[in-house]
Amino acid sequence: MPKLPETITIPSAVDIHVHLREPSTNKAETIESGSKAALLGGFALICDMSNNPGRPTWTLRRTMDKHNRIWRTSYIPVATYAGSQPESNNERELPKMAPLSIGLKSYLGETTGNSREYAAADFKDIWQLWDLLAPEKPIMIHRGSADLDEIISFTAGELGHRTHICHTNHPDEVEIVHRAKREGLPVTIGVCPHHIFKTSHDVLTEGEFAKMQPPLAHQTDTEKLMHLLAEGYIDIVESDHAPHTKAKKWGAEHTSGSCYGVPGIEFVIPLLLRAEKKGRISRERIVNATSTMPAYIVGLSLSPYTKVTWAMEEFRIEDEQEQVISGSGWTPYLGMLAVGKVQRATVKDKELICDGLIVGEKPQIVTRRGTII
Ligand SMILES: [Zn+2]
Repeated sequence: MPKLPETITIPSAVDIHVHLREPSTNKAETIESGSKAALLGGFALICDMSNNPGRPTWTLRRTMDKHNRIWRTSYIPVATYAGSQPESNNERELPKMAPLSIGLKSYLGETTGNSREYAAADFKDIWQLWDLLAPEKPIMIHRGSADLDEIISFTAGELGHRTHICHTNHPDEVEIVHRAKREGLPVTIGVCPHHIFKTSHDVLTEGEFAKMQPPLAHQTDTEKLMHLLAEGYIDIVESDHAPHTKAKKWGAEHTSGSCYGVPGIEFVIPLLLRAEKKGRISRERIVNATSTMPAYIVGLSLSPYTKVTWAMEEFRIEDEQEQVISGSGWTPYLGMLAVGKVQRATVKDKELICDGLIVGEKPQIVTRRGTII
């Protein structure tokens, strides 16, 4: 009789940084396909960003449209962020959006949906307003080239507002956040799987398929980032699951345009579990960085019944048609080894996966701090 793989049961993961891209002009993903990829990747909650191409979440109407779609099609609970940019002129919408949103996302750097770089000073009015409207709901920072010290000293320092620095690609940023934490400021920092499992060298061979903002780091920095995550100086892992179709990436490759972002949420935990197998990070840190801490940052907590049983078999990510669940149909992690297939997943009292197959859905909208998932 073949030997069954060892299984482990750990708390479900929470991803506070995904782009489901619906509704938008980008047709790579839907709430249905993205949330399915998240469920089969061991997640119980995902938080959707606001920069939907062509349809940014800048108004109450768009927030409600997104929520209606989540109710209809999501496999797992989803929370959404409100967006506000200096050019969006939506200060009248923010009071209506704040109660329905889990936090505010600010794009200071160039990326999908934002074509310019801003300074911290450009956002101060928006952050001040958000602090009045939702003092408990975090401000999520896509930094770009803005001064990180200046951002943190205003949001976390002057306002005392919980601030999360998204997707670091450099150890110096981690050092700045560490200094601020030592001063008692409410600030955290996250890293993406592509910034620890891929390097800037990949851009030479993969072109646009390895382009994202912030860009992939040099190998010496990716190793340092992995170490800083393993030691707890980086608080969380966030996927920044940002799907584009292959055709879109190809188009950018041949027109010298830009098409930032990579998908991959279904492989985040298996890549980390293999890193654990190789002695690069402890299981305790994986659980803390993918579940406990991200939930804490957005003010939620996990029920002890929200958990995932993983069959700890090693596999190679080699067949996009077979293994990729995201509607984008491709993965930047092709060729990598990973560990773990979800056998069972429950969210509170509801079983969503049994024997590796989806048997239920839980399309909940999460808006309130203190919600137990
Ligand atoms: Zn993002």
